Amino acid sequence: ATPTSIMVGTGRAAELGVLFHKGDALQTLQEARLVALDKTGTLTEGRPALTDLLPCDKSQEATILRLVAGAEAGSEHPIARAIASEAERRGLDLPRAEAFDAIPGKGLTARVEGRTLLIGNAALMRDNAVAPEDFSADAGALASEGKTPLFVAIDGQPAAILAVADPIKDGTPEAIRALHDMGLSVAMLTGDTPETARAIARQLGIDRVEAGLLPADKVARLKDLQSEHGKIAFVGDGINDAPALAQADIGIAIGSGTDVAIEAADVVLISGDLRGVVNAFSISRHTMRNIR
Ligand code: ADP
Ligand code: MG
Repeated sequence: ATPTSIMVGTGRAAELGVLFHKGDALQTLQEARLVALDKTGTLTEGRPALTDLLPCDKSQEATILRLVAGAEAGSEHPIARAIASEAERRGLDLPRAEAFDAIPGKGLTARVEGRTLLIGNAALMRDNAVAPEDFSADAGALASEGKTPLFVAIDGQPAAILAVADPIKDGTPEAIRALHDMGLSVAMLTGDTPETARAIARQLGIDRVEAGLLPADKVARLKDLQSEHGKIAFVGDGINDAPALAQADIGIAIGSGTDVAIEAADVVLISGDLRGVVNAFSISRHTMRNIR
């Protein structure tokens, strides 16, 4: 009856929008004791909005937003879209950027109207000899509200702090509670600022936070978690998540995510709703119980 119950389980899961690419994922999933989730686009909508624009010199506000939006036009990061919509809302015409360079997990640099812009997190500032402490706004306060602070330096000088906030998806709080009720530990893995990540984890009751991670760090951190906890499921959506989806014992991708993530996954959730992860676990447990 083994292959039959697996077929039944796989079919039942598909009806709920949970696609098991490989039959053994249905068997392996119920062995996992920890679920690690990417933050942006997985726990959250992945559509941040600009919430704060705090220039060091207030009279420069509009100029700074124009230059930043011009520089971000070269980026495909959700943060870039947040800035573009604010520039559009204000009807700003955007200058062209040259020498655009994305720095994975940190931000970007570009030349706009003859000026060099550096936009990103505190690590990017430090890498370029700009002290995050020299900005007039309080990045820590923004982060403790769950917002992601972004530093803007122009020609090597502090110019502004911007913040974006990414709403938590509707189904996320319930999904985290249900995973806990099933006796699973829940961890968050993100490239975002540690304070921001901790604020969001606190709202959701997530047990463990690994933040400030570069894409390659996510794999290393998963290996650490595997040696501590045994089998692990990882849920992600982005291009940067593909290596982690492959490293996890069960990689779960969100169907609205990138093709690269979907290809690397063992399980795909048709909708972005994380209650799909809960359904995947319960079907896996039921199926394997029937076999034994
Ligand atoms: P996540 O795990 O949240 O998807 P990323 O690795 O994509 O994180 O990005 C990590 C951090 O790098 C962001 O929180 C942000 O501070 C900075 N960053 C990345 N891309 C950009 C960008 N286009 N503009 C400004 N900052 C960026
Ligand atoms: Mg993501």
